[in-house]
Amino acid sequence: MNSFAKLTVLGLTSFRPHVVRSTVKLPRLTAASLFQRNYTTGTTDNENLSGWACFEKGGPLIKSGFPLTKFGDDSVELDIICCGICGTDIHCIDSGWGPTNYPMVAGHEIVGHVTRVGKNVKHLKLGDRAGVGCQCGSCKKCTNCHDKKENICEDCAVWTFNDYWDNGDKTYGGFADKWRGDKDFAFKIPVKLSSVDASSILCGGVSTFAPLKRYGVGAGSKIAVLGLGGLGHFGVQWAKAMGAEVVAYDVVPEKAKDAKLLGCDDYVLVQNPKEAEAHYNSFTHILATKILNKNWDEYFKMLKKNGTFIVCDIPEIPFSGINALEMVAKQINIAGTFIGAPNDIEESLSFAAENGIRTWANEFPMSQVNEAIKYVREGKPKYRAVLVN
Ligand SMILES: [Zn+2]
Ligand SMILES: [Zn+2]
Repeated sequence: MNSFAKLTVLGLTSFRPHVVRSTVKLPRLTAASLFQRNYTTGTTDNENLSGWACFEKGGPLIKSGFPLTKFGDDSVELDIICCGICGTDIHCIDSGWGPTNYPMVAGHEIVGHVTRVGKNVKHLKLGDRAGVGCQCGSCKKCTNCHDKKENICEDCAVWTFNDYWDNGDKTYGGFADKWRGDKDFAFKIPVKLSSVDASSILCGGVSTFAPLKRYGVGAGSKIAVLGLGGLGHFGVQWAKAMGAEVVAYDVVPEKAKDAKLLGCDDYVLVQNPKEAEAHYNSFTHILATKILNKNWDEYFKMLKKNGTFIVCDIPEIPFSGINALEMVAKQINIAGTFIGAPNDIEESLSFAAENGIRTWANEFPMSQVNEAIKYVREGKPKYRAVLVN
């Protein structure tokens, strides 16, 4: 698999900022139905999953059967409760970042009930809820893996779909009824967190939590979150709960109300220069979940000296036009960030549970996956779409 194909399961969304507010009434399931399910047996003879697969570029998802990977001593098997839809799923359906290996079952914000565990699995038991993000394997030998940075494994990270397990089996994602894989990438969901809230944290949430933690955001920090969408709505909640002052930036006037509800101290409509100028030279960090314009001078004006610009978004055109003098004189740091390592995921789940951080989700039955994907393509979720079995 080439590096572009590998990019298809990065934990980064590309929600368009020009969101149209939806008046569509979406089906809602009760929270209780997502928590309660009893299991009386821990084994299954069924070696197949039933998933919504894409067979061609941009094609519809069709319910189909595929083999689960071989069960081993380190394996965990889940009955999938729900799975969030990430922009990456759609890029992959479309072969947007390189050729996809069809047929493909996307979905990498998976929460399910544990139905089977191998003998080496100690942190999960039958009936627990567990989550899986966009990575489901790493080499476990390189310096980054030893340093608990498996997300930047130097060797052979395994992605949750459109990839292969070490044994050669194909990986299939969460738009399905079952998931089976490595215990080290299946995380216990805290009791206080609903399955839907947990699902989108496994990719969209941790992709913003991890860099805020890594770059020391806390009391005394002032954060600009660029893009109030799938990632941004997590970014502002994390930063606020970490004690920072938070300002959201977007191009949609109506999002000002949501910014307030999400706890933001201010909202800047990017196309209004006066609103932007009020915050010049004040930010310790910019979290770019969406590169809203390509004007680096403007971003550098926003940052305090020694400020850090954190890139979560992957724009389709290369960055250019960086003013080196400004960057040097203000001692500005530009940092990339890539999903989250297993310990980041565990920490983000417990931080969300303890701090009341929620996924603003539009829920769809799994059987309406095609409708849900259309909804996401149209930029309508506020701010995440989650498929529920
Ligand atoms: Zn993702
Ligand atoms: Zn590694």
